[in-house]
Amino acid sequence: MRTIKIYGEMLMLRYGDRRDGEAFEFLDHLCTGASRMEALVRDLLEYTQVTRIQAPAEPIDSNEALASALDNLVGAITESGAVVTADPLPKVRMHNTHLRQLFQNLIGNAIKYRSPEREPAVHVDGRREGACVFSVRDNGIGIGPEYRELIFGLFKRLHTSDEYSGTGIGLAICRRIVEQYHGRIWVESERGSGSTFFFEISD
Ligand code: ADP
Repeated sequence: MRTIKIYGEMLMLRYGDRRDGEAFEFLDHLCTGASRMEALVRDLLEYTQVTRIQAPAEPIDSNEALASALDNLVGAITESGAVVTADPLPKVRMHNTHLRQLFQNLIGNAIKYRSPEREPAVHVDGRREGACVFSVRDNGIGIGPEYRELIFGLFKRLHTSDEYSGTGIGLAICRRIVEQYHGRIWVESERGSGSTFFFEISD
């Protein structure tokens, strides 16, 4: 997929100035399709590999997992002007990669599904009450009550790729990770004014 995409982009760059009718448009479709397919393969690989890593013997520092998720999201955060805040998080017995993936998918979505009406603000919290409960709250577009279960299914999306890019795999990855720890994930939301995703890990 990468080869198709790279050569397509090279053609666009080299011959883009000779925009002769349909050829350029077809090339544009080819590059967009290749990019989508590349994202799909990448996300599906991530989905299948969730169960390959096991929990460590000792609890890990959740603040470090959050810091690496934020490092990976620096482009989206800068571009959107999102303000991401966090309370000190408890230790949890999870693999660092799993916790990083959870934060990265949930914060990435919180930024992607931001409201056009206000600056995006995301808050991450975590507390231990027997089990560890983490939350990621946003002030984005929100999710209707009828979709709050459905969105955790594989390939389930509420928008077209033209409205918001995506593969519909991110939340399914989150659910798969959480289930590996016999935990649960859910969302509370008000359409139009934001969502809070929670996940609970009993370690
Ligand atoms: P993707 O973002 O690739 O579509 P996800 O599995 O991450 O796939 O999310 C599934 C769907 O859930 C999204 O298409 C979107 O409609 C909805 N969604 C996820 N997170 C949020 C959020 N923070 N605010 C509003 N809608 C969301």
